Amino acid sequence: DTASLRKLDQSHHLHPFTDFHDYAEHGGRIFSKAEHIYIYDSEGHKMLDGMSGLWCCNLGYSQQSIIEAVYHQMQELPYYNNFFNCSNQPAVELAKALVDVTPANFNHVFFTNSGSEANDTNIKLAHRYFDLIGKPSKKLIISRKNAYHGSTVAAASLGGMSAMHKQARGLDYVHHINQPHWFEEGAEEDPNAFGIRVAQELIAKIDELGEDNVAAFIAEPVQGAGGVIIPPDSYWPEVQRICDERDILLIADEVICGFGRTGKWFGSETYGIKPDLMTFAKAVTNGYMPLGGVMVGDRVADVLLAGGGEFAHGLTYSGHPAACAAGLETLRILKDTNIIETAASDVAPHFQARLQEYVDHPIVGQVRGKGMFAAVELVSDKSSRERLAPESGGAVYCRNVANENGLMVRQTGDAMIMAPPLVCNREEIDILIDKLGAALDATASHFGI
Ligand code: PLP
Repeated sequence: DTASLRKLDQSHHLHPFTDFHDYAEHGGRIFSKAEHIYIYDSEGHKMLDGMSGLWCCNLGYSQQSIIEAVYHQMQELPYYNNFFNCSNQPAVELAKALVDVTPANFNHVFFTNSGSEANDTNIKLAHRYFDLIGKPSKKLIISRKNAYHGSTVAAASLGGMSAMHKQARGLDYVHHINQPHWFEEGAEEDPNAFGIRVAQELIAKIDELGEDNVAAFIAEPVQGAGGVIIPPDSYWPEVQRICDERDILLIADEVICGFGRTGKWFGSETYGIKPDLMTFAKAVTNGYMPLGGVMVGDRVADVLLAGGGEFAHGLTYSGHPAACAAGLETLRILKDTNIIETAASDVAPHFQARLQEYVDHPIVGQVRGKGMFAAVELVSDKSSRERLAPESGGAVYCRNVANENGLMVRQTGDAMIMAPPLVCNREEIDILIDKLGAALDATASHFGI
């Protein structure tokens, strides 16, 4: 029963990103079932999943053909590795399928199990590339404040969330510039002027570190866990120009943006970014199996391949046959059903338009979004943008009310964030929006606004 499961969980299970005191006192929900866009806990509560799991179940929870593809693959070849010249059919086919759906300069992939490992791989690829072209001094990586690129030591070093960075003892070859978070940092400035100004912090950082020492800049097209930070239109073209001019590899972390979240297959396409390396994970298997990787653009791949020798890197499960079978079937569904296009042209505009209804809500400071991706900033004073009770957890309160009322959304800082499955229809989006509205009303009245 739930009570004894929860007690065992509290006794033995160390949860990621969970406050240990809070968990010891209150425990949490134990999920036991999922269907379409709904998740059910062991006490029978039904929740609309407005986060697609951890931004990964873009096609919801009932994709039977992915489950069958994994089952079939487990019967044929449950495991073999890809080291030492070995391969397996799903890995080969998924590599080709990924090349087919990614921008034209991507013709190679390196598989990992997760986004974190993929970002570690990016660093090693960038270093190897500059070693091979005779520029070994180019070792430094520039990332952004408040970024999340994963939890391994290297990925957490890339990340710009201060608590995480500190616990990881951030690697000394990673440096950070500001994020293009206009609501937080831009104040009265014109958003596009702000976008250019923040992008140009990259030039200043490259000058400070020395162009001959900088290997790469890494960023998400839209920063997700940092709070769904939608960059001003001016931002990415300026970043791209700087990377091109300064011989800096551009790494797009597509772990959240990839596979349709922002309206196109990849966030890089939504924003016209031309990355040299692209990280993917999560939705590549619809979250059903652990799989990530790096799409290696021709600029880097040509040098690696021409250089010969081995890339001294690999994971026991790189290109795991069952995970790749899940990826292959996920890509087939995405291609055959036009789900990305339908979500972008029909459901996402409805989602974004309905969210805008809350712009005038007394505790809403900003509503921002792109595709099936959105954030609502909570304030106690709309004109001064004073945050809603940050010390007593205004946004946490709002999230808790939403959760209690059957809506899974997240809170980051003072914002409510959402990434519903792309398979939601308009009516399901209406349910999400209404539940969010009820949570906003309850929060306003709780804080007397
Ligand atoms: N990069 C981004 C942008 C992410 O959002 C995440 C996870 O949320 C990661 C990397 C790390 O991926 P994983 O948790 O699969 O290691």
